[in-house]
Amino acid sequence: MSYKEPAPIPDKENPFESMMKRFDKAAEILQLEKGVYEFLKTPALQVIVSIPIQMDDGRIQVFEGYRVIHNYALGPAKGGIRYAPDVTLDEVKALAAWMTWKCAVMDIPFGGAKGAVKCDPKKLTKVELEKITRRYTANLLDIIGPDKDIPAPDLNTDEQIMAWIMDTYSMHVRRTERAVVTGKPLILGGSPGRREATGRGVMIVTLAAMEKLKLNPKKSTAVVQGFGNVGSISAKLLAERGLKIIAISDITGGYYNKKGIDVEKAIQYVQKNPDRTLEGFNGGEKITNEELLELECDVLIPAAREDQITKYNAPRIKAKLIVEGANGPTTASADPILEDKGILVVPDIVANAGGVTVSYFEWVQDRMGFYWTIETVNERLERMMLTAFENVYNCAKSYNVSLRLGAYILAVDKVAKTLKLRGIYG
Ligand code: GLU
Repeated sequence: MSYKEPAPIPDKENPFESMMKRFDKAAEILQLEKGVYEFLKTPALQVIVSIPIQMDDGRIQVFEGYRVIHNYALGPAKGGIRYAPDVTLDEVKALAAWMTWKCAVMDIPFGGAKGAVKCDPKKLTKVELEKITRRYTANLLDIIGPDKDIPAPDLNTDEQIMAWIMDTYSMHVRRTERAVVTGKPLILGGSPGRREATGRGVMIVTLAAMEKLKLNPKKSTAVVQGFGNVGSISAKLLAERGLKIIAISDITGGYYNKKGIDVEKAIQYVQKNPDRTLEGFNGGEKITNEELLELECDVLIPAAREDQITKYNAPRIKAKLIVEGANGPTTASADPILEDKGILVVPDIVANAGGVTVSYFEWVQDRMGFYWTIETVNERLERMMLTAFENVYNCAKSYNVSLRLGAYILAVDKVAKTLKLRGIYG
């Protein structure tokens, strides 16, 4: 996966604050007691590690790595690792908390974590990338483990990086430990269907939400922001279900075609393009990232990065339905604007949970040493996505709140109840 980031939009809201604003609302509705509130808002562990490596030209360069475990009340911590030059500890803290809520909403027995390395993978050779990954893993040896904290891919990390993590950990513990990381290559104990799981989950909940809005997929249009793993697969699977994908985008900008983008062609184009971007793709007219978000369409799928739909552009969004393929693409201050406009938003912690769901399947398979067929994986994924979506929908209805708040209420309530039952040791 190559590094792709949409053009920045001003008013960057701190993602941890954005997460906290939603959590605060759920806590208020649930009348969470103060101590439990404090417990849930504070990450259980935050580490910053230094990663010195010898670059190909012989120089020593020091990178910074992070791992945050937000909470492990429900089980071992789980969450991806992202490589990005501008990643911050606050961003990782927010992403770790979102993993806690995501696993709770999905009924997966995991807590939430997230990791990152501040680096630009585009500027690194494969050898340098491997050294960074191995040193980062070695630095986290006391933290990660199949029963403790299980990393996975996220932005700019892929199956190869997971394989290096698995190997480094295994070398240190003197046995091959497949279940220490998910999102691995198939032959190393990866799960069938993991690579496309997030996009497949997005497709499943999009269709479920469209049904609620009585939108016919065969007569509807969709716009997908981001063309990495999540965006490209969501677009492909939605196109297969009959939606017309009228625009896609990546770091090079947006591509609009009112007759419909040939998504398969776009995927092949990116695979062949040496810089792995849509640059030069002639299947659509060039538009900006801002224009793309504001296009007239039925479904908008932000599948790039945080803070894309803000209080500034939210008033101009025309989609009827937003399905958050990325983590945190909508700032907290944009929430009420979208709600007032009557736009249904399927929040990230449900919409993009297909990835961690199949990660959970992968971990189960690795521990059993028995592997499922793709049919079994996809069928179980669909069932879990639909159940979670219905639970969130019904919770939102019974509290008369947005789907986002409904999802937070479900998740926070579940983790709080678990904490109560386990009690406080200390
Ligand atoms: N990085 C993905 C997410 O944000 C997947 C995490 C996982 O599989 O553990 O949900």
